[in-house]
Amino acid sequence: MNERLERLSNLPLRDNLKGLAPYGAPQIDVPIQLNVNENTHPLPAEVLEAIGIEVAVAATGLNRYPDREFTELRTRLAGYLGHGLTAENIWAGNGSNEVLQQILQAFGGPGRTVMGFPPTYSMYPLLASGTDTTYVAGIREADFQLSAAEAARQVREVGPDIVFLCSPNNPTGTALRLDVVEAVYAAGMASNTVVIVDEAYAEFAHNGTASALTLLPGRERLIVSRTMSKAFALAGARLGYLAAAPEVTDALRLVRLPYHLSAVTQATANAALKHVGALLANVEAIKGQRDRIVDELTRMGLKPASSDSNFVFFGGLKDPQAIWSGLLEAGVIIRDVGIPGHLRVTAGTEPETTAFLTRLEELLASGL
Ligand code: PMP
Repeated sequence: MNERLERLSNLPLRDNLKGLAPYGAPQIDVPIQLNVNENTHPLPAEVLEAIGIEVAVAATGLNRYPDREFTELRTRLAGYLGHGLTAENIWAGNGSNEVLQQILQAFGGPGRTVMGFPPTYSMYPLLASGTDTTYVAGIREADFQLSAAEAARQVREVGPDIVFLCSPNNPTGTALRLDVVEAVYAAGMASNTVVIVDEAYAEFAHNGTASALTLLPGRERLIVSRTMSKAFALAGARLGYLAAAPEVTDALRLVRLPYHLSAVTQATANAALKHVGALLANVEAIKGQRDRIVDELTRMGLKPASSDSNFVFFGGLKDPQAIWSGLLEAGVIIRDVGIPGHLRVTAGTEPETTAFLTRLEELLASGL
């Protein structure tokens, strides 16, 4: 044990945090960063300018606390989502991670359980331990799929207080059919289960893949979370949000810290939401690179999962660690999510994607 770890273990840390490692995709400064599913396209000039102006205006009022209810932002987010949603249905936080944490603070906690279906977003168990909620890992089929009947059976059996459904799922990239969400919600009726559909990557879905937003009417325990970190290319701004019944947002008001969304964050997001068209202009290009990666990896004899997101999860690798290191040596970082034989790569710009594919093919040709 190194010295810092030893000192940490001497602190009176809560039992369920002992021995845990913090969330941490490596932040390595290499030219081609395809490891955390960011939008790698730079922000359009018109959006940069709008953000600059709106943040400068906000700066003049920084001696005051911001609008605690971020009303303009909630109205703009509702307008963006459509589906008849209004500001009453919207809640936001510093990244969807914070929004998810607030949901666990309100509906989870000691003596309560949250269920996820791994492999899925690695923050779910960490959010569970941070809020002292018991994490129950559901089971997917061998090909990482999750059928409505099987998901519902497991939810009925466990009766969790909260269920995380990630669609498109990270790290596999595949979207859930809406019948899975409907079945899980119905199965959770007896246990009053709050069902979260994490749609962080929704904008990258293939045409025809429906959002769980369509299921919100009449389902007061259903929550759909989204983020501006991916399609909107605003990971650095930290703005995540959700849509749900107004009473869900009232529950979250009980646990949020007052003024949790800074005036600078609100100004940035509001400015960006006035330029949705320009911001989302690169989504189609990213989807094109995503589909190209799936096609090319298949041609190379690998096994990419079908993807509705801006990344591709692929198997069929003899030595993923060596491939990961070989790519890094060439200045390309992708993600080893710890699943044997698999790696995950974000779809970048066309030149970034080309650099990844070229180097990968060389590494495979060298016998790796
Ligand atoms: N959900 C999923 C499935 C994610 O992959 C991520 C980011 N990696 C998040 C939520 C959190 O994103 P953010 O906090 O930036 O909104």
